[in-house]
Amino acid sequence: MNTDESKNGLNLCSDSTEQRILVGLSKISLALKSQSWQDAGQQGLSPTQAQILSLLEANGSEGMRLSAVAKGLAVTPATASDAVRVLSEKGLVQKIRSPEDGRAIAITLTPKGKSTAAETSCWSDLFLDAVGELSELEQTVFLRGLIKMILKLQDAGQIPISKMCMTCRFFQANRYPNSDRPHHCNFVDAPFGDRNLHLECPEQIAM
Ligand code: SF4
Repeated sequence: MNTDESKNGLNLCSDSTEQRILVGLSKISLALKSQSWQDAGQQGLSPTQAQILSLLEANGSEGMRLSAVAKGLAVTPATASDAVRVLSEKGLVQKIRSPEDGRAIAITLTPKGKSTAAETSCWSDLFLDAVGELSELEQTVFLRGLIKMILKLQDAGQIPISKMCMTCRFFQANRYPNSDRPHHCNFVDAPFGDRNLHLECPEQIAM
């Protein structure tokens, strides 16, 4: 805590700003988790099954190996395998030959799985309204801060790798330094700003 805060009598608690930010994030995370469990339950899915649908949706049409699904959700291969078996029985996912390696099996969404994934990955208006309480500038700063934290945690191996712009081979940071859309995406060949940085882009290819 800085000296000014101490002088103003604000150091009543021993926790730091960093700790309070983490407490805040954990409260939001709890609320998001509880909401997504309710949504998954309404679809007749377990939270893991719903997360697999979201992961496959974010990954685009090429599908994912079972090991990548397990890694992406930070669960064991056995847990991922069980959830994929149930999703397959429900007709939501299918196994195909991997486009990258014909001998390997990839898991992809069926058309029914795609529509279920779209429904389960919709955030409720309540959460969108809460984010809408932030001004455009606050949202941009918050998004950049989250990306910075995610990159740090990814580097430390604490969270699964996200398909983010910052680690994408199509991303050119600050190609137009004096513009309000300073970055460039070579995939769509267009400039974009910090507000449009992606955290889960189906087109992302890691550097
Ligand atoms: S929008 Fe997608 S393809 Fe483009 S730079 Fe970002 S992650 Fe890569």
